[in-house]
Amino acid sequence: MASRRHRADVAPTRIDIAAYDAAGLAGVLADLGQPAYRTKQVASWLYSRLAPAFDEMTDLPTALRSGLNERYSLQHPSLDQMQPSKDGTRKYLWRLPDGVMVESVGIPAGDRLTVCYSTQAGCAMGCTFCATGRGGFVRDLLVGEMVWQVALVAKDFGVRASNAVAMGQGEPLQNYDATLGALRLMNAREGMEIGARHLTISTCGVIPGIERLAREPEQFTLAVSLHSAVQSTRNRIMPGVRRWPLPLLRDTLVDYTQRTSRRPTLEFALIAGENDTQAEITALVAFARGWMCHVNLIPVNPVEGTDMARPDASRMAAVTAALAAAGVESSIRVERGTDIDAACGQLTQHHRRTVG
Ligand code: SAH
Ligand code: SF4
Repeated sequence: MASRRHRADVAPTRIDIAAYDAAGLAGVLADLGQPAYRTKQVASWLYSRLAPAFDEMTDLPTALRSGLNERYSLQHPSLDQMQPSKDGTRKYLWRLPDGVMVESVGIPAGDRLTVCYSTQAGCAMGCTFCATGRGGFVRDLLVGEMVWQVALVAKDFGVRASNAVAMGQGEPLQNYDATLGALRLMNAREGMEIGARHLTISTCGVIPGIERLAREPEQFTLAVSLHSAVQSTRNRIMPGVRRWPLPLLRDTLVDYTQRTSRRPTLEFALIAGENDTQAEITALVAFARGWMCHVNLIPVNPVEGTDMARPDASRMAAVTAALAAAGVESSIRVERGTDIDAACGQLTQHHRRTVG
């Protein structure tokens, strides 16, 4: 009796269903006395068919729908603002159920759609060249909050997402379990069916996370933000990864390639006068040569409150030539969506001026 009164008096707090990965959803359904096959059914309603409420999962028994309603909440990120770029890129600002804001970007190219999604609101790593890092950390995102960003952007474009990259706000390997759970749901048939190789994780170089990733069975793609192979420069511009020195990063990546036979990308945003000097180029070549990697050179994107400039074209060409001479593959990234502050490192949690 007493316990019943207690339950009636205290409104139970419902758990956000987005917190669960596939194994977690299986546990949720087992607790509700359901057979295992219901997991895929519910996952499909959540992430493939994008049901906005449990009551819309029409082929679930009524008792199960009310059981889910009693214990769990289901709320999609709500769209606060969408900005289209001249080049077809669209930037989305989402409001999560607790009011936290995050951004995603949809980048169409031919018959492909790449969705760049956030793994955290804000970021604790403090990279000086990155708008997200300059704004500080708010919270980790839940599994479903990541999958929904990708699914809702694809829905807005009216096509399926062919690629998804964890290159929005946040450091994915500092939110490892939720990110892996999201990747697996994006990859799953009952989720979004995006091939593992088309799912990219970008990290500033969180060593324990790279070591874990090397042991996962899926062939996810890895990108590592290097930005300088000179320790003192990297310490200054990427203070969050100071504790993992460059030789350890290189050893970890070489081990990653040996375990997975996958070629990671090294991201290198060139900032004039900062990391484009001869000493920097020599160090980059020494870091990248002799193992299986690809260097992606990015002219740095402008960020409010900084005076970073892009090197001129001849400097960029000098870096490419030095890498080629050492047998290192490289490319220069063509940025999309710069006019709406949607390019790499330009994402924040706030409204921006509207582009006219
Ligand atoms: N935290 C992860 C993923 C999100 S950042 C990471 O750092 O890898 C996504 C990419 O944008 C990273 O390669 C990051 O280094 C890069 N980036 C950040 N600020 C940038 C800027 N101003 N110009 C160009 N690239 C930038
Ligand atoms: Fe965080 Fe990546 Fe930005 Fe660095 S570059 S502050 S790790 S989001």
